[in-house]
Amino acid sequence: MKILNFYPGPSRVYPNITEYIYEAYMEGIMSINHRSDAFMELMADTKAELRTKLLIPADYQIIFLSSATESWEVISQSLVQKKSQHFYNGSFGEKWMITAAQFHEVTDSPFIIEGKLPTELVDSEAEVICITQNETSNGTQVDMDTIAKIRSNHSDKLIALDVTSSLGGVKLDFSLGDIWYASVQKCLGLPAGMGLMVLSPASQNRIKEVNERQHYNSLANILDHAEKNQTQYTPNVLGIYLLNRTQKKSKGIEVIEKKLSKRAKFYYEVFSDCDGFKPLVNDSALRSKTVIALTHPKPHKVIKEAESKNIVLGKGYGPWKESTMRIANFPAIRTKEIEKLFKFFNQKYFKS
Ligand SMILES: *Cc1c(COP(=O)(O)O)cnc(C)c1O
Repeated sequence: MKILNFYPGPSRVYPNITEYIYEAYMEGIMSINHRSDAFMELMADTKAELRTKLLIPADYQIIFLSSATESWEVISQSLVQKKSQHFYNGSFGEKWMITAAQFHEVTDSPFIIEGKLPTELVDSEAEVICITQNETSNGTQVDMDTIAKIRSNHSDKLIALDVTSSLGGVKLDFSLGDIWYASVQKCLGLPAGMGLMVLSPASQNRIKEVNERQHYNSLANILDHAEKNQTQYTPNVLGIYLLNRTQKKSKGIEVIEKKLSKRAKFYYEVFSDCDGFKPLVNDSALRSKTVIALTHPKPHKVIKEAESKNIVLGKGYGPWKESTMRIANFPAIRTKEIEKLFKFFNQKYFKS
C-alpha cells in the first residue's frame, strides 16, 4: 500500500487481505447460501478460531452484526427493560448513552478523562451497566481491575462493554462482562461493514427471558439462529470469511498485546513533552494501548504535513478535535511503517 494509514478506524487492513479475497472468490465463498452446510461450517470454524485466538470462553456465544453502532441499539431494544447506566469519559460512550436514552431510562454517569471510573456510583436500579472500555475519541481505557470491582460488587447486573477499538489488540477478561461488542475495521484489521458481539451465559438467558422479537435484529432471534450456526438474514459472508482467515493467521492475543504494549510505551515515551507534542492523558494507567491521543498547538498542521508524505494520522475527535491528533496502534500496522512514521517526525520535528 502506498499510503501509511494510522487513522484509528477504518485503519490499515491486514496485508494478506487481497490473497484471502481471491481465495474466497476461487472457493465460491462469496456466493454460498447462508442455509448451506458450507456456511454453517464456516460459522462454527470462525467462532472456534475467535475463541482460541482471543481467549473467549466456550460458553460465550458469538454473533455478527453490521457495526458497533448497531450494538448500541440492539442492547437497548432486546436486553434493557427499564434502565441502563452509562459510565463514559468521551464521545463514543456519550453517543451510546444518547442512543439508549431513546429507548428507556438511563442513568447518565460521565466522568472526567483524568479521573477513574467511579465504581461506587453504580445505580441499584440499572439492569445493565454500560462501559466504553476503550474510548477512541480521547485514547483512554478502563482497566480490567475496575471492571472486576463492579462485577464482584454487583453480580446481579449485566455488564456491557464497548471494545470496538480494543478487541483483537489487547487481552480482555471476558468472564468480567456479559456483552462485549466491536466492529472489524479497528484492531481486527478488516474492511469495514461488520460488527460482532460476544455474549455471556447470563446475557443469553436474559435475552431469552425478555424475548423481544419485534425487529429484524432482535437478539432473541439472532441467538436462536446463532445456536445453529446460522443467521436470520443473508450475512456478510465475505466479512466472516476474512475474519476467519486473518484470525487463523494470528499468533493469538497474548502475543499481539505484548507487541502493542511495547509500541504504546514507545509512543508515549517519545511524545512525552517533545517539540510541542504531549500525551493527552497523564496517568499511564488510563492511557489506551491501541489509540494514542496527543496534544499539540497545531495538530491540523502536523496532520497536513504528514498527508503530504502519504501518511494518514487521526484527527482529534469531539471536544478534542482542535487540540489533539490520534495515532492508531493496531496489530495490522507493521514495524516498518512505524519506522517510516518516525522518519517523518524526525525530519519535521524532533530536530535536537
Ligand atoms: C468506531 C467506534 C464505534 C463505532 O463503530 P461503527 O463500526 O462505526 O459502528 C463505537 N464505539 C467506539 C469506541 C468506536 O471506536
